[in-house]
Amino acid sequence: MDKNLYTELMAVLGSLNSEWRNSWDSFSTDPSLVMDEATATSALAALEERLKVNYPFFHPRYAGQMIKPPHPIAMAAYMMAMQINPNNHALDGGPATAKMELEAVADIAAMFGFREHLGHLTSSGTIANLEALWVARSLHPQKAIAYSTFSHYTHQRMCGVLNTLSIEIPSLPDGTIDCDALETELKKGTIGTVVVNLGSTSVGAVDPVHDVLPLCRKYGARVHVDGAYGGFFTLLARSSNPIIDPRPFLAIAECDSIVVDPHKHGLQPYGCGCVIFRDPSVGSFYKHDSPYTYFTSKELHLGEISLECSRAGASAAALWCTLRCLPLQSEGGLGLVLQKTRRAALQWSHLIAKSAVLTEYLPPQLDIVTYYPSTDPVSTSRVEECSRSIFEHLMNRPERPIYLALLSVDTPRFAALHPGLLCDKDTSVVLRSVLMKPEHEAFVPQMFGELEALVQGRL
Ligand SMILES: *Cc1c(COP(=O)(O)O)cnc(C)c1O
Repeated sequence: MDKNLYTELMAVLGSLNSEWRNSWDSFSTDPSLVMDEATATSALAALEERLKVNYPFFHPRYAGQMIKPPHPIAMAAYMMAMQINPNNHALDGGPATAKMELEAVADIAAMFGFREHLGHLTSSGTIANLEALWVARSLHPQKAIAYSTFSHYTHQRMCGVLNTLSIEIPSLPDGTIDCDALETELKKGTIGTVVVNLGSTSVGAVDPVHDVLPLCRKYGARVHVDGAYGGFFTLLARSSNPIIDPRPFLAIAECDSIVVDPHKHGLQPYGCGCVIFRDPSVGSFYKHDSPYTYFTSKELHLGEISLECSRAGASAAALWCTLRCLPLQSEGGLGLVLQKTRRAALQWSHLIAKSAVLTEYLPPQLDIVTYYPSTDPVSTSRVEECSRSIFEHLMNRPERPIYLALLSVDTPRFAALHPGLLCDKDTSVVLRSVLMKPEHEAFVPQMFGELEALVQGRL
């Protein structure tokens, strides 16, 4: 992180807020809230100490889970708005930040190519997906929601919460939905909505939305896109020289709803998901009357089109400010940030191809790479044993640790991808790296070199 930028922004922020505060007549803080500086700083020092057990999410050496710090501009904007603490549930609670939310969501909808839309931010991708599935059930109460095996577990769980029918469609070994199996189910006429993934959480598998969409239209089913992780890669698909397969992303414009998490690839702090519907008339499902909220304006209050009530206006402020600085462009802005993460994964994949000691598990479709030590023999048990030992060793070595993740894989899928595999166990474990920071691009050669040297010594 650029420490200077953060410090400078925090200084600006203090003065801007005090100007606004000082424009009001003075009052004294209630004694119950007053504390001396020593108490506050010692509590913060204790917090700082406690936080040290975290992995260094900010550093390129951390390539484990989908975690990275927000951009300093997002932190500063969040801090500034948070001191006022607007609530985006109603215009009374957050008149400025509710407008920012609508503007930011309109930018995201435009990125997806929606001509019309209804959408808002949520506190997470889980809630955003719940909302999309809730609308799906409202439109087709008697029909099922279909999701593939490697979809995020939230879809199965939320179908349970909604008490709606659901069907699991098999995934292909590469993690994408099996379109033949989907068509067999669609033919039965019992599916109302199909969930497709633009970036599965485990390997970043991208469903062929451009193939699923015509199938669904043929059989009268809706399409919901779970782009919580990969939605922002649409920017790359719209580039003149795309380094991903653009077709699934360009098909989003014709889908019925989409979820994207600005707190994953949009440089935002946690608490920022987003759901967007292509048909604004689904807003009618949210209709409710609250005797105590919507008074100050006849304009739309966000609480009238969302399941959640209170939500941080600061989240909208942070996203809005970030998009002013890093707009949703393909070649610059946020697009450039994503290009670098994608190139880091391609480079990692290329280095594996040249390596004598590592084998690629699946070619990366986004910025997540999966691979395993080239053991002799290549058996499910040996691969698991070596992956685990390398993982433990890299993470726990005293100097220059590297943080990766492990991925459990079932043997039939592993064997389908790697025909020579000796199957002596039902499941196996491979290594997984999420290269989601732009700094990963420059750091890949060094990190890969260190990993390769370690594997060489341990095979
Ligand atoms: C992360 C993720 C979710 C859940 O989103 P949260 O913001 O963690 O609640 C859902 N689907 C996919 C594909 C994800 O990657």
